[in-house]
Amino acid sequence: MSSSKSLFIGGEWVAASDGGVREIHSPHDNALVATVSEATKEDSLRAIAAARASFDSGVFTSWPLLARCEFVEKIADLIDRDAEILAGLESGDTAKRMIEARYDMADIAATFRHFASLGKKLHDRTVDVGDPKITSKIVHEAVGVCALIGPWNYPLLQISWKVAPALVSGCSFIVKPSELTPSTAIHLMKLLAEAGLPAGVANLILGGGATAGAPLTEDPRVDLVSFTGGLVTGKRIMATAAQTVKKVALELGGKNPNIIFADADIDAAIDNAVTAAFLHSGQVCSAGTRLLVEESIHDRVVNEIVRRAGEIHLGGPRDEQAETGPLISEGHLKKIEEYMQNAIADGARLLVGGKRATRSDLKNGWYFEPTVLDGCTTKMSCVQDESFGPILTVETFSTKEEAVALGNDTIYGLSGAVWSRDEGKAQEVAAKLRHGTIWVNDYGPYRPQAEWGGFKASGVGRELGEHGLSEYLETKHIWTNNKPARSGWFLDRSESTDDGKGSTQ
Ligand code: NAD
Repeated sequence: MSSSKSLFIGGEWVAASDGGVREIHSPHDNALVATVSEATKEDSLRAIAAARASFDSGVFTSWPLLARCEFVEKIADLIDRDAEILAGLESGDTAKRMIEARYDMADIAATFRHFASLGKKLHDRTVDVGDPKITSKIVHEAVGVCALIGPWNYPLLQISWKVAPALVSGCSFIVKPSELTPSTAIHLMKLLAEAGLPAGVANLILGGGATAGAPLTEDPRVDLVSFTGGLVTGKRIMATAAQTVKKVALELGGKNPNIIFADADIDAAIDNAVTAAFLHSGQVCSAGTRLLVEESIHDRVVNEIVRRAGEIHLGGPRDEQAETGPLISEGHLKKIEEYMQNAIADGARLLVGGKRATRSDLKNGWYFEPTVLDGCTTKMSCVQDESFGPILTVETFSTKEEAVALGNDTIYGLSGAVWSRDEGKAQEVAAKLRHGTIWVNDYGPYRPQAEWGGFKASGVGRELGEHGLSEYLETKHIWTNNKPARSGWFLDRSESTDDGKGSTQ
């Protein structure tokens, strides 16, 4: 995908106002995969103006809710139709394996279908106010113009969690994907246009956060910012949005405890712990990067995870044997190397990995070996800070209470898991962990029908489920008096208004 006209504003494909472009290189071998427009601040302001004008015109909000839901179903069908193209684009930008990109596309279509089906159930509510002449109605309306800002790890999936409910609600919006992974968002805009979305409802801005993204969070014409990304950016966006009292929905990072009790199905727990930590090279917000293992089974569990980690086959999108791929960029790889140095300096014990991959066929990419660090404590930065890389830290506990205390000893609260054959104990620990998703004897699955999001510094609000639609809706109360009468609160001293019926008192 290469185009110098890859911004979508007001229904037109346009170049950046200064003609700027950005090259996208594969994290696998640094090969050029796309050249796309790089928006200026002026471009972002034009996109906001287009979205605002379309929303205020009522061109989309006037569609019946059912028609918008059917439109969203049509998008799901088009995603299914173009799944192979989309997976190829996603795999090109991220170097994730095609098999993973295909899973993502299926999840994206399922997300659109979920919100279409949820929208069909949306209904007004009548409140009984105890007075027969009053009709009191609660209705839902689109929140307005939304800025939908996404990360690079699951580029189209994370954007879809926002676009689908925004469409069902009748919002107009500006999508700003990560500057590192623009290609699938471009294709999504093409599908929205093909399906007949009125011009200006969906707009696409590509480019860096400070230049192209920040104006979307500052401008008073934007009503909601829905952001998925890192904690530092999330805090900045929340502070900026406060200046114009925008609504914000934030999906931020995680430092997710995976707790294995001695009475667990150890084989299943180990296998899932490997997947939880190293899937997509740990570039997953819900990655199980903190292993909390009961002391009595520490050696058995950790030795096996280390053996498995050392055998993981790294490779690019076309390597049939590859089990996971590279990090997204050279900058991210350097951050991971620094993170490792700090971990060792803090006293963590390196058991496997800990360095760039040395295989000659990976030398031009950003590959880091699956890494296990033992002897970790909550005082260490590697236990507290999100690495967003293939690094698993190991801590031990000896009681249920200690496991819960350790699992909650983090500023984050996105997800976690508990492994035990004792159902009562597992459910008790699940109830006490302050994280938005808890898996019991499992790790990682999610469904669009269930809410996703974080406690504490992992975010504000929820995506998916029912709540994920509510973020895009304003709730309005309409009170109708079917027999209007004077309120009679203040004494009426004007003789001229005396209609002969006397005082209302
Ligand atoms: P990031 O915060 O660096 O960037 C995310 C997006 O914000 C990008 O599009 C970027 O251009 C934009 N941005 C940066 N500065 C901005 C600003 N000042 N104003 C407006 N936009 C700005 O995050 P990333 O590195 O792309 O993604 C990785 C992070 O995302 C991780 O921390 C991960 O945990 C998190 N994440 C969370 C979830 C979740 O569901 N909670 C899902 C995926 C990723």
